[in-house]
Amino acid sequence: MSDATTATHCPYCALQCGMNLRATGGAVEVVERPDFPVNRGALCGKGRTAPALLSSRVRLTEPLVRRPATGRLEPATWEEALRAIAEGLRGARTAYGPDAVGVFGGGGLTNEKAYTLGKFARVVLGTSQIDYNGRFCMSSAAAGGIRAFGVDRGLPFPLEDIPRTGCVILVGSNLAETMPPALRYLTELKENGGKLIVIDPRRTKTAEQADLHLAPRPGTDLALALGLLHLAVAEGRTDEEFIRERTSGWPEARAAAMAYWPELVERITGVGVPELRETVRMFCDAPTGMVLTARGPEQQSKGTDTVSAWINLCLATGRAGRPLSGYGCLTGQGNGQGGREHGQKADQLPGYRKLDDPAARAHVARVWGVEPQTLPGPGRSAYELLDALGRDVHALLLMASNPVVSAPRAAHVEERLKSLDFLAVADVVLSESAALADVVLPVTQWAEETGTMTNLEGRVLLRRRAVDPPPGVRSDLEVLNALAGLLGCEKGFSTDPEEVFEELGRASAGGVADYSGITYARIEAEDGVFWPCPAQPSAEGAAVSPAEEPAGNATEGGARGAAARGARTDGPGGTPDGGRGPAGGPGETAASPGEPAAEGEPGARAAASDGTADAPHPGTPRLFLERFATPDGRARFTPVGHRDAGEVVDEEYPVLLTTGRVVSQYQSGAQTRRVEELTAAAPGPFVELHPKLAERIGAAEGDALAVVSRRGRAVGPARISRGIRPDVVFMPFHWPGEGRANSVTNPALDPVSRMPEFKVCAVRVELAES
Ligand code: SF4
Repeated sequence: MSDATTATHCPYCALQCGMNLRATGGAVEVVERPDFPVNRGALCGKGRTAPALLSSRVRLTEPLVRRPATGRLEPATWEEALRAIAEGLRGARTAYGPDAVGVFGGGGLTNEKAYTLGKFARVVLGTSQIDYNGRFCMSSAAAGGIRAFGVDRGLPFPLEDIPRTGCVILVGSNLAETMPPALRYLTELKENGGKLIVIDPRRTKTAEQADLHLAPRPGTDLALALGLLHLAVAEGRTDEEFIRERTSGWPEARAAAMAYWPELVERITGVGVPELRETVRMFCDAPTGMVLTARGPEQQSKGTDTVSAWINLCLATGRAGRPLSGYGCLTGQGNGQGGREHGQKADQLPGYRKLDDPAARAHVARVWGVEPQTLPGPGRSAYELLDALGRDVHALLLMASNPVVSAPRAAHVEERLKSLDFLAVADVVLSESAALADVVLPVTQWAEETGTMTNLEGRVLLRRRAVDPPPGVRSDLEVLNALAGLLGCEKGFSTDPEEVFEELGRASAGGVADYSGITYARIEAEDGVFWPCPAQPSAEGAAVSPAEEPAGNATEGGARGAAARGARTDGPGGTPDGGRGPAGGPGETAASPGEPAAEGEPGARAAASDGTADAPHPGTPRLFLERFATPDGRARFTPVGHRDAGEVVDEEYPVLLTTGRVVSQYQSGAQTRRVEELTAAAPGPFVELHPKLAERIGAAEGDALAVVSRRGRAVGPARISRGIRPDVVFMPFHWPGEGRANSVTNPALDPVSRMPEFKVCAVRVELAES
């Protein structure tokens, strides 16, 4: 281990806070990194304590194989473990076909790993059955963004724009707990005279900062947004010039919203008409405005339509495609953004291309050196894949995910994992899912490897290796390369992250998320580079045919020129690309105006903003200022209507459960529950409920409560609060065992995004002893 300070990033959430790591002898400490613009040195407790897991006694440092004689996981050599995985995956494929092998990835994987995992699944295993836990995170916002704008980038503007806008409506986000350093953007907004409206069924620490807090019933955000749009129309607050010049589909969306008169919306949501009017006044009186959503409105069985309703409000009031205005999603997982761009999603290839698009398949196949027809088609979404385990999918490779805790209807998912013929897990600790495996591989952690992450702004960052991994641990890239070799892929895969990134850039060239102009050197020099960032044409001139001209640009301010074409470069690492140009040949056609966009449609391609032949593309911090990334450059309204959640209350289950996070734990808690300081701060789950509900069931503060749904039961101590609606209970989802909130949640899926309904299900609450 070297004695040095390394500038890097936190291993946890999508803010990807910058930090310095100082390695001195055997110790690693976090040192403030005030020069990084996103967090300016601030960190939450998770970031500050992140090094604890590097030297933790509970981390895995040797492979484990389940021994038939004992039925237990016991130490093994790497060779034995890798051979066992190859045999397990090959056995299922031989017996049942390639789609009997599944791959489940994670939103915490670096871009390089996510890319390589997708390539491994499709090229080596030949399976369509790959998806990842990011499906549970932001997929509804992604689908809604693509539907309206032709592109999905969490925030289409940098965080630094938020304090300078006039009004922010924050929907279903508790930034104060999920990413505390980001709260300063809202504090500065208010200091600058801007208004903050928070929509959340709980009066969270974030809601306490608001000028106006609306607390709708869970599952009614869509109706709320429709009611606001109705009022904006009725009060003449729409921006007709913007609608005329920059959008399509308004008459239909307008008509849909006009069916939601304020009194009806009050009945559906529980939010009073005066509050609705005040919200419209505050939002529309401000010269600029933003709507930011997070998991609250997104993790619903109508999450995509809910996002569309909020986007419709932005478009109708001219709060999109203009400076300091727009719709954005606050992505949650560390690489939730990059993780969905590079091919570990069931329906996508690198560059956010559609897997069923012939031109996209041809382009990526060239980069991978395979024939397009050998690439499988789209597979099942995350929950559907987990639900198929043991039935259609008989062997699974699981990386960086812990669905036993994080998936909905978790007891069922746990049973499906147990029913597999073969389960292999690569992780840093023996998570609840890893404990079920036949083989467990110990892999390197964030500070022990170099790789890129893409934060919630679309800023591509370099997480640098700061310390050496312990003996016995290998990187995920080494694991995938070794397995590729054992499964007959003679060329193998690169294990050098920078080389993989260069290949990823070529695979993404011309796609929605074009990384081809980004290099490690540029990221280092520029504190990150915003995609899209296409490479310049080579000195010899890129061969880009007219048919490959982007149908739409998504640029900050500017010129659209030859550099917009996403030309490929022949960088090192050169997987054969045949000397041909980027994706987007004649077969790559645009969707009809007004039609919901297919993810990965060509209209989302970026343009260079400098228009010169020699200067590198600067990256794109702000999207849509001139045109949206749709074929006709217009943003698309989508007419949507309210519908009930997958489950509504009744006599047996009269209360709604909503789930979420607490500041000292992260996702399934697999890592943070193993950090002493964090566990001391947040030792276990709890059931937050209103005093009226507590009185009704005879509960006092701290009493053990059981939250029971049609799927299962979760137990936690009562935390009584006037800050939650009387008809709602809240549980954080970070813990396994009897406190596992996801034992209760409902896997009802959004029809577009396939997002499960984590945020609302019907339960009864009772004293646990009864
Ligand atoms: Fe920053 Fe998120 Fe890490 Fe906390 S968990 S330090 S908010 S990146």
